[in-house]
Amino acid sequence: MALLSVKDLHVSYGAIKAVQGISFDINQGEIVTLIGANGAGKSTTLNTVAGIIKPDSGSIEFKGESLVGVKAHKIVEKGLALCPEGRRVFAQMTVAENLEMGGYTRTDAENAETLEIVYERFPRLKERMNQTAGTLSGGEQQMLAMGRALMSKPELLMLDEPSMGLAPILVEEIFDIIRALNDQGTTILLVEQNASMALSIADRGYVLEVGHISKTGTGSDLLHDDDVRKAYLGG
Ligand code: ATP
Repeated sequence: MALLSVKDLHVSYGAIKAVQGISFDINQGEIVTLIGANGAGKSTTLNTVAGIIKPDSGSIEFKGESLVGVKAHKIVEKGLALCPEGRRVFAQMTVAENLEMGGYTRTDAENAETLEIVYERFPRLKERMNQTAGTLSGGEQQMLAMGRALMSKPELLMLDEPSMGLAPILVEEIFDIIRALNDQGTTILLVEQNASMALSIADRGYVLEVGHISKTGTGSDLLHDDDVRKAYLGG
């Protein structure tokens, strides 16, 4: 059984049909990527799985249980966390307070333990635990957003454009962290515009085109696919 199974999902914003019948599966332990141009419906898909947007129709099952109609915080409790596009850190709060917010569904004792793990993974956050999040660099804010999502100890972590706006060296660092999290057992759903990086670390990928899935395959098949190369990898 797939860890996450999405079938025939339709999502709209008023008259705009952003997602028009997409289906995909993620198995335990995988890194799966959704790639596609601006406006293809990638963020809408993640936000719908996370319970932030309600779908028009379709099914979303996590560990065999339906997530449709389940409140966002309950979805976090079930083991599915979203690290949103644009990071959305709480700018006025410190690094430590931002991380605490990520663990709000868990007990203080659980959080104390997870916080140590997050600080070990992101030593830069530990050094800056009392700094206000708004003054962190872009890369540090991305680490904080990922650390905050990890505070709920997710089985499945959804990352929306983690490399956006980062210098190449930081992009490498973020991708190394994603790979390490996966090696330690976290299943990953990665949405990226940086298709070549995403496909190179993904077990499998899905190409989204204006609300539809146009192609699927292993990361390496898609990386070498002529159409994908032309459309998303600069030829
Ligand atoms: P990007 O990489 O640019 O974030 P995306 O693939 O994540 O793109 P979405 O953000 O999911 O795409 O957007 C899909 C479609 O839904 C687009 O046409 C977008 O304009 C529209 N859309 C997204 N959010 C809203 C909203 N809050 N209200 C109305 N339309 C929206």
